[in-house]
Amino acid sequence: MPDSAGAAGGEAHERSCPSGRAVDGASLIGIVGADGRLGYLNRAIPLEDAFLERVSGRAPMRRFRFSEPCIEAGCAQWTGSSCGVIDKVLGGADEVLDAGAERLPRCPIRKSCRWFHQVGRDACGVCPFVVRGDDEHEDQWALVTPTAPDVDPSQ
Ligand code: SF4
Repeated sequence: MPDSAGAAGGEAHERSCPSGRAVDGASLIGIVGADGRLGYLNRAIPLEDAFLERVSGRAPMRRFRFSEPCIEAGCAQWTGSSCGVIDKVLGGADEVLDAGAERLPRCPIRKSCRWFHQVGRDACGVCPFVVRGDDEHEDQWALVTPTAPDVDPSQ
């Protein structure tokens, strides 16, 4: 079974990029919430032309999370043996890891995810806070610090 939807199955080397682009062949796997934290879908949804047209030019990678097949050496982020993005992200992630490490988020691509395969649950601790740049900065990733909801202590 092809891995284009980020689903499990296929050969062991067929991995899914968990922070792909909004392009034909990619799947939607999450939506960024108002607090900046990613909410994962129950299943990966292959992108349709109508969706791609609707989000084009509107920084879709900052508002949604997409998965593409991992193309390893065909990607500028490949170090030769692994994905450089998750290593860089984890390098500066202590604070957000604390916020996200209690339990793994439910995620539709875990069985094929490149980051999970590479570094295990640490990837999932930081993953909800990773945002990819917009169309002009699509090879840049950043961590967001989720904003706490406003709570009135008198209520
Ligand atoms: S890093 Fe973890 S939570 Fe993120 S896409 Fe991969 S398996 Fe899912």
